[in-house]
Amino acid sequence: MLGGYAHRIARINLSTGQVEYFAPDPKDLEMYVGGRGLGVKYVFENGPKVDPFSPDNLLCIMNGPLSGTRAKMSGRLAVVTKSPLTGTVTDSHMGGWTAAKLKWAGFDGLLIKGASDKPVYLLVKDGEVTLHDASDLWGKTTHETHRILRERHGEDADVMAIGPAGENLVRFANWINNDERAAGRGGTGAVAGSKKLKAIVVVGKQENMPQPKDPQLWREADRQASATINDPKNVTAPKKGGLSLYGTNVLMNITNVMGALPTFNAQHTCMEGVETISGEYIREHRLIKDNTCHACPVACKK
Ligand code: SF4
Repeated sequence: MLGGYAHRIARINLSTGQVEYFAPDPKDLEMYVGGRGLGVKYVFENGPKVDPFSPDNLLCIMNGPLSGTRAKMSGRLAVVTKSPLTGTVTDSHMGGWTAAKLKWAGFDGLLIKGASDKPVYLLVKDGEVTLHDASDLWGKTTHETHRILRERHGEDADVMAIGPAGENLVRFANWINNDERAAGRGGTGAVAGSKKLKAIVVVGKQENMPQPKDPQLWREADRQASATINDPKNVTAPKKGGLSLYGTNVLMNITNVMGALPTFNAQHTCMEGVETISGEYIREHRLIKDNTCHACPVACKK
């Protein structure tokens, strides 16, 4: 059995409320490594001609074999579906703890199909997925939804939610998890809105963290990865590199000078005054705290 995987995926039909579980084919796990690869495979198999807002569109919430382990920079979650923005397959990725907690809750992914008559949210816990009424959450912002669902399911619950944009099928609507991380590409939030899926709550216990089969080999791999991440010449170097100090916003000034910064709804490629929203300026004048994802020393979230 391949290590790292939970060997369990949930198939959720929101039209019928039915939830089934299956173990992914080991050949697929080798061929399509990670959440993006496996998700794209499932979306492709679901049929390239499906309307993104049809109940038949498949929405995949996927982690990978390193998710939930101590591997550095492994805290990313892939949302894969057919995009209502581009009309083709999209994979949008978010940081935080959702990927790790999904693994600790016993899953490599959730494959969501169908559409509910009324708003629902999913609770993922102890290897099971259950559907819950979300009528009281519909219309609420992601921040409000996050707060309410944490009050309901505990402070350790990880919440990813859509807001009014997703509900109203804005074609570039995001998923937001834990108040601050976005799966921001391709309109995956609008696909959730078309299915009346307001949120996914994941409760996973760290004691379920996958352990390396060969601890010595793991330590050596970790040493090599850490040497690269911590190298002061690299943008990832904690508290020294551009990514760690300024986040991805380190690119703002650079792309503006290059004429590669889409502005004014992508009508222009640079603009005046960009310095005041650059990573450097924000670090000096606005930053409250650095934040990070599961198992990441870079802390690029500002
Ligand atoms: S904190 Fe930044 S660099 Fe680290 S895993 Fe999250 S998104 Fe990636």
